[in-house]
Amino acid sequence: MELQITSVRAVEILDSRSRPTLAVTLTTADGSTVRAGVPSGASTGTREAVELRDGDPTRYGGNGVLGAVGHVNDEINQALAGHTFTDLTDVDRVLIDLDGTATKSRLGANAIVGVSMAAARVFATAARLPLWRYLTPAGVQPRLPVPHFNVVNGGVHAPNTLDFQEFMIAPIGAPGLAEAVRAGAEIYAALRRRLGAAGHATGLGDEGGFAPDITAPEDVLAELVAAITDAGYTPGRDGIAIALDPAASEFHRDGHYHVAGQTLTTDDMITRYDEMITRFPVWSIEDGLAESDWDGWARLNQHLGHQVQLVGDDILVTNPAIIAEAIDRKIANSALIKLNQIGTVTETLDAMRLCRQAGWTQMVSHRSGETEDTFIADLATGTGCGQLKTGAPARGERVAKYNRLMEIEAHHRLPYGPA
Ligand code: PGA
Ligand code: ZN
Repeated sequence: MELQITSVRAVEILDSRSRPTLAVTLTTADGSTVRAGVPSGASTGTREAVELRDGDPTRYGGNGVLGAVGHVNDEINQALAGHTFTDLTDVDRVLIDLDGTATKSRLGANAIVGVSMAAARVFATAARLPLWRYLTPAGVQPRLPVPHFNVVNGGVHAPNTLDFQEFMIAPIGAPGLAEAVRAGAEIYAALRRRLGAAGHATGLGDEGGFAPDITAPEDVLAELVAAITDAGYTPGRDGIAIALDPAASEFHRDGHYHVAGQTLTTDDMITRYDEMITRFPVWSIEDGLAESDWDGWARLNQHLGHQVQLVGDDILVTNPAIIAEAIDRKIANSALIKLNQIGTVTETLDAMRLCRQAGWTQMVSHRSGETEDTFIADLATGTGCGQLKTGAPARGERVAKYNRLMEIEAHHRLPYGPA
């Protein structure tokens, strides 16, 4: 299919944390106009593609993105407008070459990923396909992903005493996506009642989960199991499982992990996780160790990889080269997938293909700073990866993705569940 781009434009908008990000609009000669909103993280991996911020302290505390917006409107627009492309990989190739750096630091990964997402959307529109269907690789069965609802927030996503960043509930055993969303919302409500009754604050963190001043991660896990039961569901892989994202890079200092007032070694952490998965229905642990602790990750995978999903986020940063090395060194069995960590849709799909080929699972993910864009719901569905995390079943920018999944399920007959 041939598609002529007529213009690419960006504007500065706000993300869900009140920080600037980009909205990109792309138009084609056949009259289509599409839009994309760019996500932004807080607990970022050091090897992520570079998000360009202005650094001007007189605007948004230095967080403005007018430079990145300017790159879209000038250089990127000049490189794409008036040109004809046969598919998304052509567009992404132009963007990567135009930037010319390994980390997209010149034009900014935030500028590039917005254009790439918009380009994917316009190719889907031209092919008269829903975005998820356009993103489906040859030979892959699309499926509705298990939503991972982040119902308790800590770490850098909330100003509370919790060191672990995310506690998620995953309705693996639900009969379908809509029932999974219902379970998520009902358990969220049950958890609010429990926390309130125990005298905890029920204010929300960046991803819409509660942010109580609980200190020990095990105490949160006990509350989750109780809330699942209160809501009438069964804790466990046949019903509602639990997933953790400790985001351990954030509490790893001086070679040790600092959790709930304790100073722990890598092996202490592995023992702690071993005990957690024995006591609680935890089926997935993301970033259980720091991104610098590759040897620790290998030991963790050796000890627990046959019992639990071990997801690399900060350590892998959706980077195909790093994922290939990680597969080789057997340091995990699953990858978190975030478009803006690598900066183009094509490279994201490359990373996902590598995982599939290695027999690794994958979880598509939002960022703590989000827009109302629902691209990742389609990405998770189209690639058949079976898992999506996009926050609590609350807050518009999170709920928009879950709602998009419900609409896809209502209009198309697709399987539901982990791949
Ligand atoms: P971030 O966190 O979007 O703030 O980087 C999400 C995560 O660690 O998974
Ligand atoms: Zn993470």
